[in-house]
Amino acid sequence: MSVPQNTIAIIYDYDQTLSPNYMQEEVIFPHFGIDGKQFWKRCGELVQKHGYEHELAYMKALLDYLEMDRPTNAKLRQLGAKLSFFPGIPEMFTEFEGKLNDVADTMGWSAAHGIKLEHYIVSSGLKELISGSRIAPHVRKIFGCEYAEDDEGRITFPKRVISHTQKTQFLFRINKGMLDLSQDVNDHVPPEMRPIPFQNMIYVGDGPTDVPCFTVMKQTGGRAIAVYNPADETRVSFQKCYQLTAHADRVRHIAPADYRPGSHLRLLLEEMVTEIADNIIERRRNDLEAATVRAPKH
Ligand SMILES: [Mg+2]
Repeated sequence: MSVPQNTIAIIYDYDQTLSPNYMQEEVIFPHFGIDGKQFWKRCGELVQKHGYEHELAYMKALLDYLEMDRPTNAKLRQLGAKLSFFPGIPEMFTEFEGKLNDVADTMGWSAAHGIKLEHYIVSSGLKELISGSRIAPHVRKIFGCEYAEDDEGRITFPKRVISHTQKTQFLFRINKGMLDLSQDVNDHVPPEMRPIPFQNMIYVGDGPTDVPCFTVMKQTGGRAIAVYNPADETRVSFQKCYQLTAHADRVRHIAPADYRPGSHLRLLLEEMVTEIADNIIERRRNDLEAATVRAPKH
């Protein structure tokens, strides 16, 4: 038995990949009057002096800063509505759908093969903020750090933490179709039963924190793109990407984070999706041929 394996997944990091800003700085600090510099300094101390993981450090610092003002998760979702993105987001999601249908019509794909494109986000930022943003309706699943709530409904303790090394777990969840986090991602699923093979995946990230995901893509036949912010005058953003491709050989493609039609990134994404779709069709033809018992010749 096998599953169709005709879904293509684009998986995005969030901060600096879909958005030029850090989500905490963009919507949480201004709302609660937190001094960003002090906040990140406190996080640095927690990491360096007290041995905290980076993500736990920012989650603790936020709880410490807010104390009695701790918001509900619903409030975080509300703040997420103010998040902004690189050019072309979120329009790309709907345009892509249209484009995919156009290409599908010309090439005779989707009707016959049911090829679908899905978008996922795997972030070390706060899931609730992204869930309240304008991109959420276009995304099949958002994975991110989460807080539990106390009896009054206020955020109280980290419920889920996704550090950059743990991000790869979510690629396997997407691969195995285990989107429900109560499922054990280590359970064995035979390759032919996995709904989205790695060859059907494209990972988009921005820097060293995405290296574990880039590596999984490279080892499994997936595709990856590192993006940089072309408006970053310090060039740090570009240099992070350049290092990944020029010296470390982590990722083959880099592009400015501009998702508008005709941009380098958009061309790469469209070409990759087309290529994956062609491969899906090719595989299905081969499977069909292998499964067809030829009628005896007269
Ligand atoms: Mg990032």
